Amino acid sequence: MMALSLSIIVPCYNEEACLGELHARLSRAARQVAGTSYEIVLVNDGSRDRSWEMMQAIAATDPHLVAVNLSRNHGHQLALTAGLDLCAGERILIIDADLQDPPELLADMIATMESQRADVVYAVRRARAGETAFKRSTAKLFYRLLSRMAEIEIPLDTGDFRLMSRRALDALLALPEQARFIRGMVAWVGFRQVPIAYDRAERHAGQSKYPLSKMVRFALDAVTGFSTAPLRMASHIGLWLVAASVLLLGYIAFGFFTGRAMQGWTSLMLVVVVLGAVQMFVLGMIGEYLGRLYIESKRRPLYIVSDIAGHAGGQPQLGH
Ligand code: UDP
Ligand code: MG
Repeated sequence: MMALSLSIIVPCYNEEACLGELHARLSRAARQVAGTSYEIVLVNDGSRDRSWEMMQAIAATDPHLVAVNLSRNHGHQLALTAGLDLCAGERILIIDADLQDPPELLADMIATMESQRADVVYAVRRARAGETAFKRSTAKLFYRLLSRMAEIEIPLDTGDFRLMSRRALDALLALPEQARFIRGMVAWVGFRQVPIAYDRAERHAGQSKYPLSKMVRFALDAVTGFSTAPLRMASHIGLWLVAASVLLLGYIAFGFFTGRAMQGWTSLMLVVVVLGAVQMFVLGMIGEYLGRLYIESKRRPLYIVSDIAGHAGGQPQLGH
């Protein structure tokens, strides 16, 4: 198969309202930098709307389009992995389907990659339009907490929107984990990675596909994947509690010998409730790691492909 110069990977979940515009803008941006040597890989992550039918229809008219249908909803990061596994380009662009990340940034990203001899050009969000104050503030806090805990440097305020070289992608695909936090895994891979700033737009249409529950799970995947600090938390808290209990012991002894012993219920309840909460929290954290360890140990495939429509590089593609 002739090498393609560019692959664009887009995970899609219920994005029927975005696909038409997405295809038009991506095609324009791709032609500008790669001529006809590009493919657009749309991964349908078990959508419940007409996304898959639309993808097939586009694939029937556009030879640059590859549409991949997963067997069910596997989640954003795994859908993305499916597209990355399948693509053939020398350079790979990861982008969301909702056009919050402007495809027009591609030309700048390629120019930056070339002038800086970078393997990864990641897009850093300068401003975020049309997102709730809750989403913006939790995201901001999350990236800062994570960077304090993580053992490697993970860029702040950066999503999956990035351009990668083939060797960086191959290195990324060699990481086998189920709980995938791809923006962190790319940072882990190393090579020369440079930022490029952009303003995040509003969603083109539809609603966010990341409800709070998915956001929490995503954040926990990131923390457990890149830090063991929460596991050491128990011993840290334990040390502080030892210090506190020595003080408390002194206070109780003092009360005992001077005949002014403390009243029972209130102080007792306080200690029981605080200790109970701390223990449950620490246990929960251990559980998060243990659960992921268990899931990893099953070594299941990351995703299942059910159909592929379209051709890439003039050749029919087969799933793995
Ligand atoms: N997505 C996906 N599977 C999911 C959830 C989301 O493939 O289970 C895709 C979605 O279609 C979009 C990208 O992941 O292309 C990011 O999702 P979204 O824009 O809803 O997240 P937000 O920008 O609100 O954080
Ligand atoms: Mg979005």
